[in-house]
Amino acid sequence: MPKQLRLRTLPSEESTLRGKNLEIQFPLSAEILDLIEDMKLTVKKAPGIGLAAPQVGKNLMLAIINLEELGVKPFAIINPRVISKSIKKTEMDEGCLSMPGQFGPVRRPAKVEVSAYNEQGKKVLIKAGKLLAKVLQHEIDHLNAVLIIDKMEK
Ligand SMILES: [Zn+2]
Repeated sequence: MPKQLRLRTLPSEESTLRGKNLEIQFPLSAEILDLIEDMKLTVKKAPGIGLAAPQVGKNLMLAIINLEELGVKPFAIINPRVISKSIKKTEMDEGCLSMPGQFGPVRRPAKVEVSAYNEQGKKVLIKAGKLLAKVLQHEIDHLNAVLIIDKMEK
């Protein structure tokens, strides 16, 4: 059974949240497959719309996107990279499970294309706009040790 994982938060766990995240090797190990299920449960319970592995203490290039409100089942993105982004930027208020209570405007490209592997080990290209584009960028930032406090309008 999947288990709920402890969320790592600022300021006490900055070293994990700012750590270097390692690429995941394929085929996926049983340990990684379990971690994916545990993270899906954890992000649903939080509740949140995205969760990156360093936020549960694992410095790996893995995140879960949970946009069930848009009718999409939670899915994993593994070793993701933003491969193109729109010149147009839009602002959206963002929060972060690792920064409880902090919420503020973040400016990011409106659309992105992300290359990643899915949990079946297949390479996928995700063309995203609107909320999905923002969540993908927020989570990929985590995997590069970037947090929204670095990007919030001062
Ligand atoms: Zn976050």
